[in-house]
Amino acid sequence: MSIRPILIHPDPRLKKRCDPVTEVTGELHRIAEDMLETMYDAPGVGLAGPQVGLMKRIFVMDCVKEEGATPRPMVLLNPEITWTSDEVNVHEEGCLSIPEQYAEVTRPAEVRVRWLGLDGRTQEEHFAGLWATCAQHEIDHLDGKLFIDYLTPLKRQLITRRMEKLKRERARA
Ligand SMILES: [Zn+2]
Repeated sequence: MSIRPILIHPDPRLKKRCDPVTEVTGELHRIAEDMLETMYDAPGVGLAGPQVGLMKRIFVMDCVKEEGATPRPMVLLNPEITWTSDEVNVHEEGCLSIPEQYAEVTRPAEVRVRWLGLDGRTQEEHFAGLWATCAQHEIDHLDGKLFIDYLTPLKRQLITRRMEKLKRERARA
C-alpha cells in the first residue's frame, strides 16, 4: 500500500467526467487500498478517483468519526444515486483537493446509492447525515464537479485564487 499524491484545484483532471469501471481487476483492488490509505492519512472522510489522477468511477469513504469507534472503510464503483429525500441539509464542506477551504452547501439530507463492490456484487444502501453529504460530494467528483461549483462565482474565484497561490508556493518549496 502507498499514499498517492492528491491533485489540487485548479486541475483539468478535476473537471472531467470519469469513465465507468468495466472490470474489477487486481490492480483496481490495489488502487482502492491506496486510496483508503491516502484518505485516512490526509485525514479525510472521502476520496474520489480523479483526486489521485485515476479517471474512473470509483470513490472511497469512511464517515465514522467517533473516537474509538470501529472504522468502516467503503469502496464504491460506478455509484448511482437512486433516490434523494425532499428534505435538504446544509453542511459545511471541505475537500482534500481544496485544502483548508470550507463553505456551506445545501444538498438532499438522505440518499439511496447503488454501486458495484470490489467483490463484483451490486449493493444498495440508504445514507443519512455526513454519509449522505459525503457520498453526494464524491459522486460529484466523478462528474467533474467540485463543492465550490455550488457557491457564488465571487466566492469560487476567491478560493480558486487561494489555491493557485498555494500551488505556486508548493512548486517553489
Ligand atoms: Zn472533494
